[in-house]
Amino acid sequence: MSADRYAAASDDTAGCYVHLPFCDRICPYCDFAVVRHVKARVDRYMSALAREIETSPLPHKPVRTIFFGGGTPSALEASRLERLLAQLFERFGVAPGSIECSLEANPSRNVDDLPLWRRAGVTRISIGVQSLDDGELHRLGRDHSASQAEVFARAARRSGFDSVSVDLIAGAPGQTLGSFTTTLDRALSLEPDHVSVYGLTIEPSTPYAAWHSREPAAFPDDDAVADMLIEADERLSSAGFEHYELSNFARPGHRCEHNVGYWRQRDCIAYGMSAAGYDSGERYRNERDFDAYCAAIETGSSPRADVERLDRGRRIGEAAMLALRTADGISDADFRKRFEIDISVAFAAAIKKCSARGLLEADGYGARLTATGRLLANDVCAEFLVPQIDEQSERPSKGVPIA
Ligand code: SF4
Repeated sequence: MSADRYAAASDDTAGCYVHLPFCDRICPYCDFAVVRHVKARVDRYMSALAREIETSPLPHKPVRTIFFGGGTPSALEASRLERLLAQLFERFGVAPGSIECSLEANPSRNVDDLPLWRRAGVTRISIGVQSLDDGELHRLGRDHSASQAEVFARAARRSGFDSVSVDLIAGAPGQTLGSFTTTLDRALSLEPDHVSVYGLTIEPSTPYAAWHSREPAAFPDDDAVADMLIEADERLSSAGFEHYELSNFARPGHRCEHNVGYWRQRDCIAYGMSAAGYDSGERYRNERDFDAYCAAIETGSSPRADVERLDRGRRIGEAAMLALRTADGISDADFRKRFEIDISVAFAAAIKKCSARGLLEADGYGARLTATGRLLANDVCAEFLVPQIDEQSERPSKGVPIA
């Protein structure tokens, strides 16, 4: 284990998340805040968004990453995206292309816009490939084919982005370890810099929830999905990728800095419906409903639906849960610096319990998930939610090794 990798990362910066909710059609497993792509809606939303950006106070720290998520940000006309980017760069006082700027893209259309996005200042493209098996794509309700995804990824590669990422799903209906492995190999042949592998979650109230309760055997079970995730770890690691977060793999130098900031509790300003932000211990979320969000902005009200100030214990507990998602885990030096606590004291019970089950390894640098622990990450994280903070543990301590 190297000494704290993140210690070198600056926390004196903030990120910016922008939610672009439009999709051509709604996938049956999707639980995100999305609406169908209709011109009148896009007009209304983009006006509201521009006003929110113009009138919201800037973060206390300089913004150094931008992330366009959705929805399908790539469904937006290139000219609208260019205007939006220009407004953000001007507002944050940065030159186009000088900071990491990620865009989520659906390979079903707008492949000709790739060079325009690059020129407008997008540096990182994240392509929703999901699978390279046409039967699986069909059952996922996706509106692209495997070959369209490959054409899009190759075109992205040629367009000069600093990083090209592909998103894959493990656990699609009808998916097997064999078909998942074939998808992985085909994805690797596209030479991505970054790969995300997400286990499919059956969200309540989606068409998939109804299908799953009717016909559970249509879906790979938990053991089959675990085998796919293990396969992804092995294949991508052998291909030179770092498994730097539970669902994310990157070639050296290609981690998504925006998401790294999220796992480090870095401040993040959020714009758009349902967008969630974080500001010096205060967490907030905008209205999730399209009309409620637009109406709030149009009437000069705040679009924020929830605002919550985290007390010190919650901040530390959440920081631990987020850090555990990363390969570096909870760094003792980092937690001393950020919170002035000794993690061997604050998380003594959790470390002991999870280490005994073989889910966690702890040493003088900190604590991190084992390979088995990564498959049961939610169980481990739950143990770290409430730190044991007393007067003694709040004092900076002298550096007792954890194990
Ligand atoms: S494209 Fe993505 S955001 Fe849009 S409906 Fe499908 S899964 Fe949801």
